[in-house]
Amino acid sequence: MSHYLSTSEKKTWKLIQDKIKEKVTPQQFTTWFSGLSLVKLDANEIYIHTPNSFCREWIENNYMDVITSSLEKASISNRKVKFIVDDNSSFEPESNDVQNSSSSPYVDSATHINKNYNFNNFLVGPCNRLAHAAALAVSESPGTAYNPLFIHGSVGLGKTHLLHAMLLRLQEGGHKVLYLPCESFVNHYISTIKTGDWDSFRNKYRQIDVLLIDDVHFLANSQSTREEFFHTFNALYTRQKQIVLSSDCPPEEIPTIEERLISRFRWGLITRVDPPGFETSVAIIQKKTALLNMEISYEVACYLADNVASSIREIEGTLTNIHRYTAMNESKIDLNLVKQIIRGFSKQKHNIGIEKILNTITKHYGVQLSQLHSKRKFKSITLPRQIAMHLARKFTNLSLGEIGGYMGGRDHTTVMHADDKIKKLKSLDRNMSSTLRKLENVLIKQQEH
Ligand code: ADP
Ligand code: MG
Repeated sequence: MSHYLSTSEKKTWKLIQDKIKEKVTPQQFTTWFSGLSLVKLDANEIYIHTPNSFCREWIENNYMDVITSSLEKASISNRKVKFIVDDNSSFEPESNDVQNSSSSPYVDSATHINKNYNFNNFLVGPCNRLAHAAALAVSESPGTAYNPLFIHGSVGLGKTHLLHAMLLRLQEGGHKVLYLPCESFVNHYISTIKTGDWDSFRNKYRQIDVLLIDDVHFLANSQSTREEFFHTFNALYTRQKQIVLSSDCPPEEIPTIEERLISRFRWGLITRVDPPGFETSVAIIQKKTALLNMEISYEVACYLADNVASSIREIEGTLTNIHRYTAMNESKIDLNLVKQIIRGFSKQKHNIGIEKILNTITKHYGVQLSQLHSKRKFKSITLPRQIAMHLARKFTNLSLGEIGGYMGGRDHTTVMHADDKIKKLKSLDRNMSSTLRKLENVLIKQQEH
């Protein structure tokens, strides 16, 4: 497609591209943005050409934030974004027009294996005992124990850690293993649409003993990739090769996923990792501080377990902060100091009260506070309620339980699920992400006054 652009249109487009580059990784830029071109820019609309409808679908679902804010930065906000696709470019898997069979630049570059994510460093507690046992069993005898093994749970609870541990153990056992984040699978699929080299695509996934795919909920974004994944799954499964999947939700809750994939995931074992309870948190804190050579008392460990332990990643983050602080100031770690540090960090982050959040939500959605508190389950109320909990997680220092308290006495798991759900909606639904952005801006503005 050739477009006749004015010099100023060309300049603006270059500027928009630069702004996009600032926001995404080079790999993401090459995959999703380098093929875009400007068709026309007028007072109300910007028309952008995308190479195919898949690419358009992907950008609409995942990168609208990036596009809108880049337009703003290039001083052309308030334009409606219109994508144009001239989609004769079929991406039927059978197309044989091999143009360039050099190996794809997208594959595996995102995959670095963390050698510390091994079984030795994985602390087992009631929250992850089953998942851990299953992961071990599969690593010992892949293809026979549980196939597929499906591990789900919210972020920061050790899914990636377990998958890496399996990879390392299986490699030691001499198995041919492939680990990759689902996003890489999707990227590889896209790049193969461009190159047409389906042989090497299929060989890569089908000539192995074990396939570990992390964050498989990513498949929600693309029907054609799910199709291909389905075939890959079947090809491996019928040859009794092991498949291990992780996801931030159970199979049936992955948006837009087809029943036939769900039912395949159910053929094996589905297991969940939960947030650590108090005792596990304390144990994890003790283990991690030992690794960091930090000396902390049992009392401090308990305080931390009580106050930060909603995910293991969060625990690690807090410990690192404390570690940095004490290293810089050469101070000894005691309870007072830890309290100060935690408070200090969260103050720096935000200081928005839950009342402000509730106020903003009731105003925006035209609901009553009492409705948010109530047990009613109408969507018109549950959504604002869940958004309020999500924002409270994001902007306040309140614990899950405390937020639950403000939301009509709900318990901490309800708050956690609400938070997860909104995060997921945000990544999948661009109306949601723009609504959230609006609400957050309102809150931050109030904050500045
Ligand atoms: P997820 O993939 O579920 O989002 P990760 O596997 O990335 O979570 O875990 C987040 C961090 O917490 C990692 O640094 C990981 O090593 C650590 N972690 C998670 N679970 C455990 C555990 N049971 N024992 C020790 N560290 C853990
Ligand atoms: Mg992960």
